[in-house]
Amino acid sequence: MPDLIDNLQEALDNINNFQKIKDARYRKRGIPAFDSFGKFKAWFYNPDTKKFGPSKFIGYKNTTIKNYTGADYGNGGRTNKQLKMFFNKVDTEDQNYSNLMSELDDFVRNKVGKKLSKKFESDKNGGIYIPKELTTQSTDDSHPDEVSDQDTYIEGAVTKVTVNRYERDPSARQQCINSSDPKYTCKACNLNFGTKYGVKGNNFIHVHHIKLLSEIPEDYKIVPEKDLIQLCPNCHAMVHKGMTVNEIRKIFNLPEISC
Ligand SMILES: [Zn+2]
Ligand SMILES: [Zn+2]
Repeated sequence: MPDLIDNLQEALDNINNFQKIKDARYRKRGIPAFDSFGKFKAWFYNPDTKKFGPSKFIGYKNTTIKNYTGADYGNGGRTNKQLKMFFNKVDTEDQNYSNLMSELDDFVRNKVGKKLSKKFESDKNGGIYIPKELTTQSTDDSHPDEVSDQDTYIEGAVTKVTVNRYERDPSARQQCINSSDPKYTCKACNLNFGTKYGVKGNNFIHVHHIKLLSEIPEDYKIVPEKDLIQLCPNCHAMVHKGMTVNEIRKIFNLPEISC
């Protein structure tokens, strides 16, 4: 029996490997991942590549279209249980759900030419999952300072929720990060956690919503590439205390940027 993955990156790599199924479809038979496609119920998202992979495929170490046998080692819930250490299920009511769903649908129908399992949404383990780091950002690494600043700053609870949501919205966050160069690097001090702290720091960054609350109209729709910027937690806290990104850059002897 192959070993289960034991970190997020292994699962994300497997998701990327799963995309080879697009080529497998031309061979039709004898490709277990292709033949059992209709049985996959739980789909996991790699936000860096915007690709999906099913739990039974991505839950084991180093899975490729070539070495995947389609066998259910033990009971089918094993991979799901392991993957849930690193992923959270996206609620169908979540504002990102429909976007993710249309990406998944596009992959399944147009690229692979198969249908999703009928149990996709009805099964308790079925559905769409995204990395936990995208959903726990709000509670795990937002600064207490940030919250209290906003509490005193914002009048209506509705506005508070709205603004926080943009900085925490996984898909808006990811769009901001993907449009940034370099990715996962603080716009104010240039800190990159992966470079500075090693593997554990990979892909860690805060995202800050630039617009002032007073500038946000009621029908506001966020443009993540423009309205959000990457900041490390330190600079993020300072920006919430009223410093501008360029004021911080000056301290670090970095040239002024437009943002
Ligand atoms: Zn910084
Ligand atoms: Zn912020």
